[in-house]
Amino acid sequence: MEETDDRRHAGTVFNIQKYSIHDGPGIRTLVFLKGCALSCRWCSNPESQRPQPELAYNKGRCLGLDKCVRCPAVCVRNALSRSPDGTLDIDRARCQGCHMPCVDACPAEALIAYGKTMTVEDVLAKVEQDGAFYARSGGGMTLSGGEPLYQADFALALLREAKRRHLKTAMETSGLARREALAEAAPLLNDVLFDIKHVDSRVHEAQTGMPNDLILANFRMLAEEFADTRIRVRTPIIPGFNDDEATISAIAAFLEPYPRVEYELLPYHRLGTQKYVFLDRSSPMGETALDKTKLPRLESAARDVLKERFRT
Ligand code: SF4
Ligand code: SF4
Repeated sequence: MEETDDRRHAGTVFNIQKYSIHDGPGIRTLVFLKGCALSCRWCSNPESQRPQPELAYNKGRCLGLDKCVRCPAVCVRNALSRSPDGTLDIDRARCQGCHMPCVDACPAEALIAYGKTMTVEDVLAKVEQDGAFYARSGGGMTLSGGEPLYQADFALALLREAKRRHLKTAMETSGLARREALAEAAPLLNDVLFDIKHVDSRVHEAQTGMPNDLILANFRMLAEEFADTRIRVRTPIIPGFNDDEATISAIAAFLEPYPRVEYELLPYHRLGTQKYVFLDRSSPMGETALDKTKLPRLESAARDVLKERFRT
C-alpha cells in the first residue's frame, strides 16, 4: 500500500487513551478500534462491540427537558422524547447512522458519541504528541478494541504508517481474526497481547458467542512463525467460567510448548457496568463479582506449569 493511501485510510475509533503503563512495555497510547466478533458476557467495553458509532446518554448529567430542549431541537429523526421523569428517552432504532448533532448541542456533556471516523493521519498525530515519553520509556502505540483486526484494513494501515514513523507498536487481540490479517500484522508488531479465555471450545462458545478453534490456530501460527514478535497471553479470570485451577492449568499446558510466550491472569472487574446503562443495555454479568481469594491458587496452577514465564 502507498504511504499516502495509508495516511488517508479511515476507520472507527472510540477512544484514544494516553499514558497507559499496563498494555505493552513503557508508556503507551492506546487506540481503541470499534467492532468485535465476540460477545463476551463480561465485556468491560460494551461500547466497543458494535462496529458503528453509538449514542450514549449519561442521565445523571442531563439538565432535564423542563430546563433544556437543545438535543430534541437538532434531532431531525425525532429519536428523542421526554420520559416520565423528565429526562430523555432515546429511540435507538431511529438513531442508527446519524452523525450525532445532539452530542455537540448538549451543554452538559450528557450525550456521548462512542465512536468516530478518524484517518490514520488523525490517529498518529495524537499518538505522536507523546513521542518524548515513548523514547524515554520504551513505549509506543497499542491497538486495542473491540478487536483491532475486525477493522483489519484500517489496523494494518495504522501499523504500516506507525512503522514508517519508527513508533513501537503493540496490539491487544482476542485472536479472532482472519489468519491472513494476523499474519500481515505480526511483522509490524513489537508486542502482541493475546487473550486465551478457555481451551474448551464448547465452554468458550457458550460464554463468548464463538468457538475458539480459529483463536487457538491463530495463536499457534503467531508463536511458531513470527519469532521477532514478543507474545504475552492473557486470561481474564471470570467467575463461573474459568476461575478454577483445572481450567488455568489446561491453558498453561497449552502454552507450555512455546518457550518465548509469557502468561498473565487478569482478574475480572466491573468497571464497565455504567457504560451498559449509558447504552440502554443491561450487563449480562449483573452483580456477579470475582472471589479474589481464589487468585493465589490460580496463579500457583499457572506457575507450576510455566515457571518464570508466568508473570504477576
Ligand atoms: S444521534 Fe442523531 S438521531 Fe440519535 S438522538 Fe442524536 S441527533 Fe437524534
Ligand atoms: S441537550 Fe443535554 S442536557 Fe439538554 S436535554 Fe439533551 S441531554 Fe439533557
